[in-house]
Amino acid sequence: MNLFHRTKYECDQCHEKLENYDSLIDHMRSIHHHPIVKCHGCGKEFFHEKDRLHHVREEHEKKVDQRTHKWEHSHDKGASPQEEVDDHTKNFGNNF
Ligand SMILES: [Zn+2]
Ligand SMILES: [Zn+2]
Repeated sequence: MNLFHRTKYECDQCHEKLENYDSLIDHMRSIHHHPIVKCHGCGKEFFHEKDRLHHVREEHEKKVDQRTHKWEHSHDKGASPQEEVDDHTKNFGNNF
């Protein structure tokens, strides 16, 4: 995965340059006491809860298919539109 093309990670707060994301996390935590959230699935650390949630959604939910099956056992009539969109996206991905 080559999402980050930047060679340096710059701290927003003091503009110090760090070699990698882990160093930046460490810097933010130890120098600026920035709260860090951690993924319970793989231990990856993030600056913001929303980043972590995004990561969990992207990285882990596609492996865990249990959630989808819950709908089959549910007696509720209306599955949420979001759930249907997810199913279509998944099928498309499989065909691809
Ligand atoms: Zn800093
Ligand atoms: Zn994770």
